[in-house]
Amino acid sequence: MHLLHIFIILGLTPLLTISFLPPKLLPLVNSMSDSMIHLSRYHRRTTLRPPSPPPPPSPFPSPSPSKKGKDIVILGSGWSAQSFVKIINDQNPHVNSITLVSPLNYFLFTPLLLSASVGTVEIRSIVEPIRSCNPFVDHIEGSAYKIDHKKKLVHLTPNLIDDPSHIENVTIPYDQLIVSVGEEATVRNVPGAALCSLPLKTAQDAQKLRTCIVNAFERGVLASRKKQSNKNWSQEVKHLLTFVVVGGGPTGLEFCGELYDFLSNDAGKLYPEIINYAKVVLVDSGRTSDLDPFKKLLKEKGLQKLNSRKGVGLAKERVVSVSGSGPKGNEPPFQVVFEGSEVVNCGTVVWAGGTAPRAIVADLISELNFGKDADGKELYRKLPVDEYMRVKNVEDGSILALGDNALFLDAGPRGLPPTAAVAAQQGPYVARLINRNYDLSVGCSSISNSNTNASLSCSPPQVSFIRSPLALMKTRIRASN
Ligand SMILES: Cc1cc2nc3c(=O)[nH]c(=O)nc-3n(C[C@H](O)[C@H](O)[C@H](O)COP(=O)(O)OP(=O)(O)OC[C@H]3O[C@@H](n4cnc5c(N)ncnc54)[C@H](O)[C@@H]3O)c2cc1C
Repeated sequence: MHLLHIFIILGLTPLLTISFLPPKLLPLVNSMSDSMIHLSRYHRRTTLRPPSPPPPPSPFPSPSPSKKGKDIVILGSGWSAQSFVKIINDQNPHVNSITLVSPLNYFLFTPLLLSASVGTVEIRSIVEPIRSCNPFVDHIEGSAYKIDHKKKLVHLTPNLIDDPSHIENVTIPYDQLIVSVGEEATVRNVPGAALCSLPLKTAQDAQKLRTCIVNAFERGVLASRKKQSNKNWSQEVKHLLTFVVVGGGPTGLEFCGELYDFLSNDAGKLYPEIINYAKVVLVDSGRTSDLDPFKKLLKEKGLQKLNSRKGVGLAKERVVSVSGSGPKGNEPPFQVVFEGSEVVNCGTVVWAGGTAPRAIVADLISELNFGKDADGKELYRKLPVDEYMRVKNVEDGSILALGDNALFLDAGPRGLPPTAAVAAQQGPYVARLINRNYDLSVGCSSISNSNTNASLSCSPPQVSFIRSPLALMKTRIRASN
């Protein structure tokens, strides 16, 4: 297709979307518009690039005096960030630069992480380099640790430092910041849990868990060989091959399913002499409410199904502490102590018992002053956003939040479920708003903090175009000539 056609369609789509089309056709137009952006990117990738300008003095973007458009900074390379960079139009004349900051240089397909933790799929099959998602977006490999929303700066620590004793932090300015750092796994103040249990959130967690599962079996084989000298060998093998999974939410339940499949298929063939000692214990305190993102009925059905399987047990209690063996107290066998003082000895503890906001998000929440509850804690543990994903109390709409770290207030007090399905829709939604040059500074609403019961001041946000769609279309046609 000729480049001119691409630009005509690109220019036409916002016009059609907003002016003429019935809402039913909107997804069709969105996909057309998105595919055109991909096609134009592919064309640029495959044609020779013009000679590059002399290298800038610093590898990090700085505000250029001649800049015409916005500097967009996006934090994270997860579901929402990846889907955002795929759709964002880096050739938009109103956009000066797009920079993605993440400690990981890849996107991780989390739904398959559980399969990777038992070796059903390889980690390399479930990651996508972030640079290949959109090669025209700058990537800084590092962790953002502070957002200065007044000066519009992000402070970050680069990952790749030659001399760790001399860490040089970096500050980058932004006009539009997109916070999509997700949440982190938490052990919620259970003594010993951080030291002795394994979370399931990252590719490294899955790799560690996979090694632990295999090591448990190998240790079991060694113990079974000492039958003559060790009378307690069967007890030892039983402890080593007991897998305790804490948390009956989607992650815990799904992991138990994967582990059960692994134990009943692959492990049975590889370790036939000890497989009968293997057991999975799923711990769920049962303190769920109807508001849980994972629907109560579905959860109960899942727990019932698991419980009916041979070698899977359900413990409806709270874990109060975890302790281990060895000089550092972090080696198997572990002792998991329940509220009713019952102790389970096991070889592996997997912690899928909840998430907490990342420090950078918690800091921003407290700075934006949304109010406190009766216990003096922050009223929100996620960034409350309006229908355009603009963080409340940021007057100029310069900060957007997507995915797990965003609380979409229009969906109720608990927001939308923290799932990939939600994050992967919010990314493209915001990218299209920017592609179509919506002015996100118009009609921002705030949450007042007059007392402990913070209330929402609801001025409905209006969004206006910087330019009319027709003028935009003309600009694009001119640009392609
Ligand atoms: C094991 C597992 C299985 C799941 N299965 C499903 C499923 O089957 N279906 C489903 O819908 N959902 C599933 N989910 C939930 C889904 O993965 C999340 O809802 C989704 O990842 C949220 O996307 P996000 O963009 O908000 O954050 P994430 O995908 O968590 O991405 C956060 C990103 O931010 C980066 N980051 C962290 N700290 C910083 C920092 N300081 N500075 C810069 N970047 C930072 C991280 O490296 C990461 O790249 C699963 C989750 C897990 C853990």
